[in-house]
Amino acid sequence: MGKGEEVSNKQVLLKDSVYGSLKETDMVLSRGTTHLKAPQGSKAILVKNIYLACDPRPIWSKGLSNTIDYPIEAGSVISGFGVSKVLDSDHPDFKEGDLMWGMTRWEEYSLIETPKFMFKIHNTDVPLSYYTGLLGMPGLSAYAGFFEICSPKKGEYVFVSSASGAVGQIVGQFAKLMGCYVVGSAGSDDKVDLLKNKFGFDEAFNYKKEHDLDAALKRYFPNGIDIYFENVGGKMLDAVLLNMRQHGRISGCGMISQYNLEQHEGVHNLFNLITKRIRMEGFVVFDYFHLYPNFLDLILQYIKEGKMVYIEDIVEGLESGPSTLIRLYAGHIVGRAVICVTTE
Ligand code: NAP
Repeated sequence: MGKGEEVSNKQVLLKDSVYGSLKETDMVLSRGTTHLKAPQGSKAILVKNIYLACDPRPIWSKGLSNTIDYPIEAGSVISGFGVSKVLDSDHPDFKEGDLMWGMTRWEEYSLIETPKFMFKIHNTDVPLSYYTGLLGMPGLSAYAGFFEICSPKKGEYVFVSSASGAVGQIVGQFAKLMGCYVVGSAGSDDKVDLLKNKFGFDEAFNYKKEHDLDAALKRYFPNGIDIYFENVGGKMLDAVLLNMRQHGRISGCGMISQYNLEQHEGVHNLFNLITKRIRMEGFVVFDYFHLYPNFLDLILQYIKEGKMVYIEDIVEGLESGPSTLIRLYAGHIVGRAVICVTTE
């Protein structure tokens, strides 16, 4: 393929109107064309996408779509994190052949007009797909949300919801490495088994089998919770508030249980924030990209020492993207959901 050549470009678009919960049919596979060239003077880069991540995002939820940092516009190609190779560059920091991770789109080739959230990959003796997860945005979210927001101390009691997901599995392992007692919740017995036997959580439970989340948390945390890493929101957050200890910290990373609801659930136990002097802080990973070098050094060291494991569910081909995203919301993905666009 020559530079500047026009090639066919498979893409996944979001339809013009999405009503209620996101459905597979809200996404369409289309075939466009792309010139393999970054226009002169544009400071853009033209990349070939290798891996794309499937991220649960509140974009589909009316009223939240304009509050996130990488919105998907109806009728456009879906944006998201991925691993890509530079085919042409008009940007001084990138050159042909560079491997990158960061914000791209669900298509074979992308012209990245402002490569603000693109990072060069220097370390390739780990699976490249890890840059969509452990070494990419979810890893940094786990690092920032746990260390920066929660200031963990050895011996503290930590609870992680959606614990086997892309972010949760890393948070749990960070907490163990800090010497904390860690419990995770997940939506199937297989995931619970994974948490205890693969990721080293002290305990784990299947929240779908618990009729009373407050009682479940009391069973696993008879002395209360110091740190809650919040990924789901809703009823789980309400139950956690009842079980927090004095001066506990809650890191608000995500609230997946609310993303597809027309009407968001209320939280009833917020008064505990006052009586227990709890600090609850939400964060957006985009505010922490300056910490990426520190995070990467730490995590590469952990991988080298065999202290960190990571589970991915890799599907082949862009056409698998829509169904994989729907499976993710349904809880049918174990670990990080990744689309392999090309093996070339
Ligand atoms: P994830 O946890 O892998 O999300 C998918 C999982 O969520 C599913 O496998 C399912 O697992 C669980 N889930 C789905 N519906 C649920 C419901 N109604 N109630 C409870 N759990 C449900 O996602 P992730 O990529 O690791 O991200 C974790 C959270 O952080 C997400 O909410 C995401 O939007 C958010 N996030 C935020 C930032 C930020 O900058 N703040 C960055 C990255 C991610 P089960 O089988 O266990 O139910």
